[in-house]
Amino acid sequence: MHNIVCNKAIDLIVPYLKERAYQHVIMIADKNTYTAAGAIVQEQCTEAGIASQVILVHPNPIGDVVADEASIVQCMLEISAKTEVLLAVGTGTIHDIVRFVGSRMMKPFISIPTAASVDGFTSAGAPLIIRGFKQTVQAIPPEAIFADTSILMNAPKRLTAAGFGDMLGKYTSLFDWKFSHLMAGEPYNSELAAETSSALEACVANIDAISRCDEEGVTILMNSLIESGLVMLKFGMSHPASGSEHHLSHYWEMEHIQHGKPQQLHGLKVGFAAIEISRLYHQFAERVASMMNTNSPMTENAELQSKLMEHWDELKLRIAGIPQPEELSAMLTLTGGSPDAMPIDKADVARGLRHAHTVRNRYTLLRFINEEVNE
Ligand SMILES: [Zn+2]
Repeated sequence: MHNIVCNKAIDLIVPYLKERAYQHVIMIADKNTYTAAGAIVQEQCTEAGIASQVILVHPNPIGDVVADEASIVQCMLEISAKTEVLLAVGTGTIHDIVRFVGSRMMKPFISIPTAASVDGFTSAGAPLIIRGFKQTVQAIPPEAIFADTSILMNAPKRLTAAGFGDMLGKYTSLFDWKFSHLMAGEPYNSELAAETSSALEACVANIDAISRCDEEGVTILMNSLIESGLVMLKFGMSHPASGSEHHLSHYWEMEHIQHGKPQQLHGLKVGFAAIEISRLYHQFAERVASMMNTNSPMTENAELQSKLMEHWDELKLRIAGIPQPEELSAMLTLTGGSPDAMPIDKADVARGLRHAHTVRNRYTLLRFINEEVNE
């Protein structure tokens, strides 16, 4: 994948289009992202003699632009046979719409992120909301990504905080990935896990620069988000970057959709969810320790109990490697994504922790706790 993260990356798009001999492009954006980046790209296309058309995705009745059937059909109706390539100008939602539409209309797409807000830019999965239910559909990755740091630096700060939150979620997703492998034989790749882990560590080590949204900070964050998306692409599934924290976030999102509430940013929900999952997993480790002391099993399922004991030394170490909820909360707050501002209350958290494992067919520790562990 042609993958550019730098200042003025936007000026490299038209030369790329010319090199690939694209003559007819369609840009898909929303009102804000068109202003932030789309208008400049369109002007450059016109100057270079490339025919460009713009689709501004309409917000839903409560003002959110969402990747649902209405947005998908809006785009499909406006894309003509002449269109050779789609330009996704925006954040995660615009990319999800474009990657799905592109895959079904057999048109490649180019990613032009307007904020370092999510790790899905380079992945192939499109989380879509169809009839009020969120599902991830296999689609296509972009053929190129042009992330202009001067645009990313000027994005609303909470979008950058959301990108950081999506990265923080890797602490628990990496744990769940290993857990699902050890306990249920789900596929695993330690090299890819190490790549995601080092992308996460780069963000944590540079949290001050990311909090300032300066050039160095957004560059590190964007590169980490791209890396995390590429790992999912290489693995072919979302395991490396998505565990119970994402399931919890999806659960809340579906509840909000069903109740007609406005959407919160994906990465902020994921960061918030990672705090709650961290709390639950650390409590689980304490409980295992005390049950081992009294020689009582965690579960009546003898096979799972023996697997848990067989791998407990490793699992315990990995849980210890997940920062405590207070540390995650402090990091998220520092970047501008304070958990206190999330409209998710204690009852939502408790309900989510009880049911979120059902949104995906994955063997996470959350699923184990809900389905197997003795009360
Ligand atoms: Zn995510």
